[in-house]
Amino acid sequence: CGIVGYIGHRDAYPVIIKGLKRLEYRGYDSAGVVLFDGNDLKLSKTKGKVSDLEKKSQEEISVTGTIGIGHTRWATHGVPNDVNSHPHYSNSGNLAIVHNGIIENYEPLKKELIARGYVFHSDTDTEVLVNLIEDVKKKDNLKLGKAVQIALNQVVGAYAIAVFDKDRPKEIVAARLGSPLAIGVGKDEFFIASDASPFIEYTSNCIYLEDEEMAIIRLHKPMKIRKIKDDSLVDPYVQELQM
Ligand code: GLU
Repeated sequence: CGIVGYIGHRDAYPVIIKGLKRLEYRGYDSAGVVLFDGNDLKLSKTKGKVSDLEKKSQEEISVTGTIGIGHTRWATHGVPNDVNSHPHYSNSGNLAIVHNGIIENYEPLKKELIARGYVFHSDTDTEVLVNLIEDVKKKDNLKLGKAVQIALNQVVGAYAIAVFDKDRPKEIVAARLGSPLAIGVGKDEFFIASDASPFIEYTSNCIYLEDEEMAIIRLHKPMKIRKIKDDSLVDPYVQELQM
């Protein structure tokens, strides 16, 4: 299971595919990617290997865009199949998420969301989380970061996540509790990954998120790291990686 994300000026697709291959050692049963080309989200996912994803994605989507998130899945809720693979969209289709870990209280959350009109396509706990974020966001017309924070405070479990919102197309929100997450800081570009191996060839500046921290990663703006529980700002500690 692994996560790779990119926001910057490069083609995101090769960065993500190569990055997912570097994370293959972590073990997985499915893989997927979503790209944003400035207008639309383009999603491709499959049971199987990253090389299967590579083939399928090049056949079914145009793999352009300078923002994207990718995933290798180790199924915990829902069998390994194409539909249960990540990324997952929210019901509006505006939010896309990748998640490693487990949302333990997904059942009551799912029931509540279904009662509020949400529809689920997969059997995953992750699709519950992305719709919870959407619900929180819509209720009070919140920015993505705030909605992610409020949603995560309702969640019991473990996670590393990266979330993208079509309404805020120069931003990725990442968070962790119990699963690792590293952020590579380049010049006008950011990388997100389960460890630094996917981005070490592009930048040696790395921030490791700590448990219960979230990062609001925005293009051409300073990154903000906050504690999920009490909203306090954390001074990013940038480590120099040995290339
Ligand atoms: N619990 C999620 C699922 O089963 C994420 C699994 C993972 O860590 O890859 O889809």
